[in-house]
Amino acid sequence: MDKNNIMRKLPKVADLLEETEIKDLMTIFNRNYLTDILRESLETVRVKIMEKLESGDATDKSENELKDEVISLAINKLSFSPYSLRPVINATGVVLHTNLGRAPLPEEAMKRIEMVAKAYSNLEFDIGRGERGERYSHVRELLCDITGAEDAMVVNNNAAAVLLCLSSLASGHEVVISRGQLVEIGGSFRIPDVMAQSGARLVEVGTTNKTHLKDYEMAINENTALLLKVHTSNFKLVGFTSQVSNEELITLGAKHNLPVMEDLGSGVLVDLKPYSLPEEPTVQDSVKAGMDLVTFSGDKLLGGPQAGIIVGKKGYISKIKRHPLTRAVRIDKLTLAALEAVLRLYKDGLWQHIPVLAMLTESKDAMENRARKLAEGLEGVLTGKGKVEIVDDVSQAGGGSLPGAEIPTRAVAVSVHDISSGELAERLRKVPTPVIARIKKDKLLFDVRTITEKDVEKIVEMVGKAL
Ligand SMILES: *Cc1c(COP(=O)(O)O)cnc(C)c1O
Repeated sequence: MDKNNIMRKLPKVADLLEETEIKDLMTIFNRNYLTDILRESLETVRVKIMEKLESGDATDKSENELKDEVISLAINKLSFSPYSLRPVINATGVVLHTNLGRAPLPEEAMKRIEMVAKAYSNLEFDIGRGERGERYSHVRELLCDITGAEDAMVVNNNAAAVLLCLSSLASGHEVVISRGQLVEIGGSFRIPDVMAQSGARLVEVGTTNKTHLKDYEMAINENTALLLKVHTSNFKLVGFTSQVSNEELITLGAKHNLPVMEDLGSGVLVDLKPYSLPEEPTVQDSVKAGMDLVTFSGDKLLGGPQAGIIVGKKGYISKIKRHPLTRAVRIDKLTLAALEAVLRLYKDGLWQHIPVLAMLTESKDAMENRARKLAEGLEGVLTGKGKVEIVDDVSQAGGGSLPGAEIPTRAVAVSVHDISSGELAERLRKVPTPVIARIKKDKLLFDVRTITEKDVEKIVEMVGKAL
């Protein structure tokens, strides 16, 4: 086969840019970037032909075949990742973004996950005694130490923890709860539905805005098995309102020999008040008040892996552990490895290493540097085609935590001539590392609070690709 003949059949970059498949890609990538990729792909095909000619096993190809080869190679190079689940950059400023995976884990947790994942472990093996052990044992003591509780266990998530507690302690019986606490959290977890699923009967007392101790008292009868308090984690009741305090509820429970349980939702373990964040009841507060059981999430304000944590009195926890549902909602070993590492950070007074807490407590001043770097970088790729400014804005905790809290933040606002902010936001979702930003007043906002130092360069690179 003639070398010159086949090389002549190779497509020209200018012609490739007119192909529909490539034209379609121009809605996502800019023309220069596509041209580079096509040139590279063309070169790869050329080199491959040369090699085959030299080794004498080249087959003749039509112009169309060669063109398709280059295009499919280019599309391959552009295709972001063969994986479905992959990292994105969260520039929304919503720290616990449930759709974006809630809490990013600290380095310490990653190391433990890796070690435990690639080897056998003492997951359910008591090394000292050489016999079967309990998977909760790896975090039990830490949880008791940190929260002050008598006993602790962990399951797959907090929704499972609530379901399990209700099923174990109140199935076939009545559970008394204030009407103002019948919450629905995202993903269709509603207290009345969970209650029904557990086989417990819901007895709502009080009114939407006010519930008094006597409302609970009047509802208690021989069928009552539990008094439940649910933290209204994703909304705020303001105005003429009142709820019964933990202390009052616990005293009432004790008087009638009934366990009192609190679903705290987020379950924060440190006092966030010194950081100008709204007051959020800590797990320690609830335990200290005397709650018999407290449940909370591992991946909300705690900043760890997805998990449901149950702390409380030994007798109740032992009963819960024996319930058949426990096996169905059990925690996985990688989660346990991560959770142990995160809890150790709390125990060692190193909670600042936990990304969620570091992000939430970072001051506006501390963010200024990152904001400036990002703004400069973006100006560099915009080259006068738009406007970049650093603005004041507010971040949110998200994930049904710290409802209504508006945390002052710094953001980089971008507007590009000829491209609407909606269009730019869309393009930024389709680049190799998707950047999820926020639109406000027709500007695209990158909230610096949830952007790491490393993300800054990446965002600049991705905006360059998107333009
Ligand atoms: C978030 C939340 C849950 C569910 O926790 P997951 O860990 O997401 O399953 C349950 N109750 C309350 C009050 C919550 O805020």
